Amino acid sequence: MGNRVLASIPTKDFRRLERDLEPVTLGFGQVLYEPRKAIRHVYFPLGCLVSLLTAVDKRRTLEVGMVGNEGMAGMPFILGMGVSGVRALVQGGGDALRMASAPFRIEFDRNRPLRDALYRYTYALMAQISQTAACNRFHDAEARLARWLLMTRDRVGSDEFLLTQEFLAHMLGLRREGVTEAAGALRKRGLISYSRGSLRVLDAKGLKASSCTCYQIVKSVFDRAQG
Ligand SMILES: [Zn+2]
Repeated sequence: MGNRVLASIPTKDFRRLERDLEPVTLGFGQVLYEPRKAIRHVYFPLGCLVSLLTAVDKRRTLEVGMVGNEGMAGMPFILGMGVSGVRALVQGGGDALRMASAPFRIEFDRNRPLRDALYRYTYALMAQISQTAACNRFHDAEARLARWLLMTRDRVGSDEFLLTQEFLAHMLGLRREGVTEAAGALRKRGLISYSRGSLRVLDAKGLKASSCTCYQIVKSVFDRAQG
């Protein structure tokens, strides 16, 4: 599975960039960035999925965005900052290409197609983050869970993913019982199955019907931004 930002760059510009890209395999639960800490690498996910989390207090976190193979983790760099505002956590293990911050800055300044692709991506990611904020405040747990599962499915390119209810609670800002209830409702309708930490989407169309409109709104922005 390729990365869509990198795939959009003309071959001659990509060749130069390629020299500084290092293949890495990221494991579930790995932390890439911490708030207020320097960013050492940017990551272009191939098959992995990265969650952007905001700390609410010592115990609770809330997912405010996710980055898969449609984008790049390390958005502050695009905006001229070298420090992360969020915690970036690998929520789906898999491959990525990473680039150290110093060569990335040089390449970002001189590689126009890369810069344009990352500006468009940042626009879409900001739309995703603002929609997620509204979603977390106004939409019920079941619709949010359906939205989250659809977004994850699009980014990992698979109907099955590993996750625990506790993990989902952290992502969605719910109590564990809230996750159990929402997942139970989706399972009862035959939309998902769940066993031993593995969740499978059985009926994506039905899941779309159960999701709030946030899924489609964000998807349309990404489709538009990536042409
Ligand atoms: Zn929503």
